[in-house]
Amino acid sequence: MKYNKEIYDKAESQLYEFRKKSQEDLEFRKSVLYRRVPEAREIEKELAFTALKVAKAVVCGANVSEEVQHLRERNFKLQERLKEIIANFNFPENYLELHHRCNECKDKGFIDGKMCECMKNLMKKQVYNDVNKLSPLSLSTFETFSLDYYSDIRYEENMPSPREHMNAIFRACVDYADNFSLKSRSILMKGGTGLGKTHLSLAIANTVINNGFAVIYVSAPNMVSCLEKERFKNLEVYSGSEQHFINCDLLIIDDLGSEFLTQFSNSAIYNIVNSRILSSKPTIISTNLDIAEIANNYTERMASRILGESAIYEFYGEDIRQKKGERRRRGL
Ligand SMILES: [Zn+2]
Repeated sequence: MKYNKEIYDKAESQLYEFRKKSQEDLEFRKSVLYRRVPEAREIEKELAFTALKVAKAVVCGANVSEEVQHLRERNFKLQERLKEIIANFNFPENYLELHHRCNECKDKGFIDGKMCECMKNLMKKQVYNDVNKLSPLSLSTFETFSLDYYSDIRYEENMPSPREHMNAIFRACVDYADNFSLKSRSILMKGGTGLGKTHLSLAIANTVINNGFAVIYVSAPNMVSCLEKERFKNLEVYSGSEQHFINCDLLIIDDLGSEFLTQFSNSAIYNIVNSRILSSKPTIISTNLDIAEIANNYTERMASRILGESAIYEFYGEDIRQKKGERRRRGL
């Protein structure tokens, strides 16, 4: 996959920060140790000194091997003593080593000139972040979702009230997000505007991202515009975004059907949805369209595939955005 220089530079500076942080953490651990065991500081000092002496002995040349041999033995003894202290005071064995995030490349990003997987992952995440920046990801969480806006009056005798119904959908979404895995099902959220589809799909995105998965949350119009830029203007910023839409762990397409319908947008969206279904990757689609409209706008095949692959969450009730507005106007 191709990445532009900006993404590459960002990943490199993240790796630099990791290295800096692990050095600082080590200094901190040392200071804790020195406070508890002053002898350790003396040993560290002497170790640094013997290393210097070895270097000097080599430079000076006289009786090098004997002198160096002696210093190495001394060095070895000091190291052993330090290990003993660490064990006696119940510090972990690797307490005085640098703790890297990636032990393969030691956070350098490269191994023998080949890019390490950790750096590739950092660049991938950077691209997802760039796409997710287009969405108000941090605003909607499960904690800020309120059932109060949904009526508790039953429309029909045998039907749950909108609040009871939404409560069940809410629980299902929390459960889905908490237990998300690469084997999770796809979800189709359908129903009119202002019923909470966007809020709940954003909340799922937040939780799943926090659990360490690569998630792209994107509205259908933004997705189409990313793909158009990539296809027609060859903008490097989004290079590979089609592949990212196809390959991320969870793709959330908000408001399918609100994009400007063209032959390009139809086939681009179909291609992404279909590719993900073929490789069994979960996708969450929220839409105001019903199945017949999806078949009409895209293809019957796409409609039936989505229907076959997804759990369907049907949202009903009154527009809560209107209700929120009313409450504000009435000063509640
Ligand atoms: Zn690495």
